[in-house]
Amino acid sequence: MEVTVGRILFTEEQIRARAKELAAEICEDYKGESLYLVGTLRGALVWMADIMKEITLETEIDFIVASSYQGMDTTGVVTIKKDIEGDVSGKNVIIIEDIVDTGTTLYKLLDYFKGKGAKSVEICSMLNKPSRRKAPVSPKYNGFEIDDLFVIGYGLDYNQKFRNLPFVGVAELR
Ligand code: 5GP
Repeated sequence: MEVTVGRILFTEEQIRARAKELAAEICEDYKGESLYLVGTLRGALVWMADIMKEITLETEIDFIVASSYQGMDTTGVVTIKKDIEGDVSGKNVIIIEDIVDTGTTLYKLLDYFKGKGAKSVEICSMLNKPSRRKAPVSPKYNGFEIDDLFVIGYGLDYNQKFRNLPFVGVAELR
């Protein structure tokens, strides 16, 4: 099976404009406070760069690698493959995510950061597929909602490829 890039859903200009809007909302909501941004590797890399450049509050950044496996349990099992390196206790954590699909990964990560004593934990996702949701997760900061499509580019992969595309497009199977 070969995968190619189909229809372009969001251009770099559209994504950066949306990142600017969301960063402004974040700055307003956390006025006078500092932030601890945690990017989920590898998918959130490009979106995280767009968001963080637009944030004017005191900000630390960190990264986490989590993977979810669908087992018997409908919410799946999430493994932390690479943990954050800093201490989030007492801090305002915003998880920067590429796409929320079933919500399994983020549901666990929300709990994980609360367990580490974060003062607050919110999610800022570039894309959201609400029709696929299994776990009760709704990102406070949401770039774009999409239908149940498999998308690639702007950090998102198919078999580790296509992450470098400067837009989000629909993956086409041949
Ligand atoms: P969830 O735990 O919400 O089901 O899974 C979220 C993760 O699944 C995302 O961080 C991403 O890695 C992957 N994912 C979900 N939907 C897509 C998609 O349409 N395209 C790509 N490339 N990855 C996806």
